[in-house]
Amino acid sequence: MTPSLQVAAALTLAVGIGAGPACNEQRPPAAHHPPELTSPLWAHDLLPSERYLFTFAKPPDSWPVCTLWSGDALAGSPWAVMERLPLILKADDFGSALNIEGTRFLTAVTRRQGVAALGIVTASLPETPAVLDTYRRLAAAGFELWFHGHTHAMDKGRTEFFGASLDDQRRSFVAGTRRGALRLGVTFETFGAPGNMLDDNTREAIRAAPALALWLFGPPAAPILTLPRQADVETRPGLIGAPETGLAAIELAIRQGARVLVLQVHPRSHDDGSAARLEEILDRLQQAHPYYLTTPTAWRRFQENAARVRVTKLADTQYLVDLSLAAAPLYLALDPDGPLPIGVEPTAIDAAACAATPAP
Ligand SMILES: [Zn+2]
Repeated sequence: MTPSLQVAAALTLAVGIGAGPACNEQRPPAAHHPPELTSPLWAHDLLPSERYLFTFAKPPDSWPVCTLWSGDALAGSPWAVMERLPLILKADDFGSALNIEGTRFLTAVTRRQGVAALGIVTASLPETPAVLDTYRRLAAAGFELWFHGHTHAMDKGRTEFFGASLDDQRRSFVAGTRRGALRLGVTFETFGAPGNMLDDNTREAIRAAPALALWLFGPPAAPILTLPRQADVETRPGLIGAPETGLAAIELAIRQGARVLVLQVHPRSHDDGSAARLEEILDRLQQAHPYYLTTPTAWRRFQENAARVRVTKLADTQYLVDLSLAAAPLYLALDPDGPLPIGVEPTAIDAAACAATPAP
């Protein structure tokens, strides 16, 4: 079953329509294949262990033959434009049974051949097998379930991770990640605090959950990788603002060099208007800046993997993209306004003939 069909099945279960006999078979986690592109002309899904020959009709740049790009992957090279913008939808406050609004959001994401990052409030995970199964199926389809607090407590300016003792915060991390493993079979790798409220204790307490490797909107000097908040489409939790405003904020973030974008949303609270505005933002952004919908962990792994990709300019119009060392597929998109290859073929040739010159 393709990832999107799995999600469709999960959604069917979630809203209780046509749920067939319970299916408790253990599925191997499905690899998240990046979405298919509308134009095969400019997008390529490259597989690990393969090498590809890109051929252009005219030289696309003036770098010397045998220039090699590696290490920081394609960044800084004429190939940097091949990376589509990774867009992460940080969808907060999941964990209990999906409501109609939440299901509508997942459907919108799936329709775009994408995935989203669902923040799980672990104390709200019920024991109901059908609800847990829905989340498990979403995880199997590539959606990331991340830790959004155990209780999500907010009271008189204090929250679960703001103004609480170090011990209490540690207990939250331990209880929440344990509950996620127990009920969802998921090891959380990403964290985002309720209300993004945190204090000095949180930086220390997060070590109580050593599998957490990425902190959405984390603090400076966090002990793990963080992704910053660079643009907002919600004007307050659950309310999507005017598309022009959200798109302008995104545009500014991109102009300021954002190479990955995280948009926070609370789709379970989106009324019809908010849901429609979010779709409009996603559609118009796709026109302006081709992106793919991904998750924090998929993005983090892509970053690790991209460093193992080597691009060598073999001739004025020929490039070798070498994924022999890569561990995951590399999803590349060329700037549709830039030079486009006339051929992309798997190849057995390597760059041995080239006395490779690292790019300056
Ligand atoms: Zn929340």
